[in-house]
Amino acid sequence: MATDDTSLETFLRRIEEFEQDATPALRDAATPEELEAARIRFLGDRSGLLKSIQRELGSLAKEDKPAGGRAFNQVKTRVEALHEERGRALADASRGASSGRDLTMPPRRQWSGAKHPVTLVIEEIAEIFRELGFTIALGPQVETEWYNFGALNFPPDHPAMDAHDTLYLRDDILLRTHTSPVQIRTLQRFPPPIRILAPGDVFRRDFFDASHAPMFAQIEGLCVDEGISFVDLKTMLTNFARRFFGAARTRFRPSYFPFTEPSAEMDVECQLCKGAGCPVCKQTGWTEILGSGMVHPAVLESAGVDPEKYTGWAFGMGPARIALQRYDIPDIRILYDSDVRFLEQIARPAGGDA
Ligand SMILES: [Zn+2]
Repeated sequence: MATDDTSLETFLRRIEEFEQDATPALRDAATPEELEAARIRFLGDRSGLLKSIQRELGSLAKEDKPAGGRAFNQVKTRVEALHEERGRALADASRGASSGRDLTMPPRRQWSGAKHPVTLVIEEIAEIFRELGFTIALGPQVETEWYNFGALNFPPDHPAMDAHDTLYLRDDILLRTHTSPVQIRTLQRFPPPIRILAPGDVFRRDFFDASHAPMFAQIEGLCVDEGISFVDLKTMLTNFARRFFGAARTRFRPSYFPFTEPSAEMDVECQLCKGAGCPVCKQTGWTEILGSGMVHPAVLESAGVDPEKYTGWAFGMGPARIALQRYDIPDIRILYDSDVRFLEQIARPAGGDA
């Protein structure tokens, strides 16, 4: 091997130093003139540094040439790209400065965020019931089977407990299917009189369609005291429906729930079709807004409340369904799409009342 051959190691160091010097010179060039000066110095055709390194490539030993050539080409590509990129940036900047900007263009409106329609519904419901003496109670989303079903008088083989309907995490640990466990937890902690609203997310094994979702908000109410009767239930809920839905007609239908006896579903006239029938109300002209009933004595008993002394009523509803009614939304899936173009038609700015 001839002694005047450049060693590969020296060559690689040279190419590395070249890149270290060229990078800041090109990247930080403040004007097209500075950039051009840097280009001539590093990338110039005749006396540029890269040219002289290319010449050195020729004096590498034959077996070192492939490795040296590869390193040379990689650096060359990177540095040339940097030069091009900086050239474009400087050109863009100069165009922006010289071409007159349109100062009459309206400014972009600032989107400051707003409350989701379902949150608005929950807050409105809570406000009406607050005036009726109800306070908010919250509970865990992961529950035991006992709080979710057993304490609520579900028989052990009730179909709702099936894994087809309920999301189990472990044997008897599940994602709550309703906010009713909050009623039990409240009755266990506080002596009557009790008036609570329990809003929160609940989970069921449903597929998305126009009126179902696997996770949705629910809001329940519970009133337990001495001498509470079905008259109280009907008065309170009718009062609520009048205030919330305006002059809409309402009706109660007998129903069945394990945790209430007697039970009733409350319907309001479909706000979308005004009673004429549409897909949302399944052509009936009515929309079910809540289930309700007198708290079953067995439920009071399992929460440690004396059913001989106290009675109570409870209701539960889905704020998402109510949001569909309230804002004339034809499909519940829109509420979960996070499309702000839709949501901002309904949303009010957070904290604002406008
Ligand atoms: Zn309808």
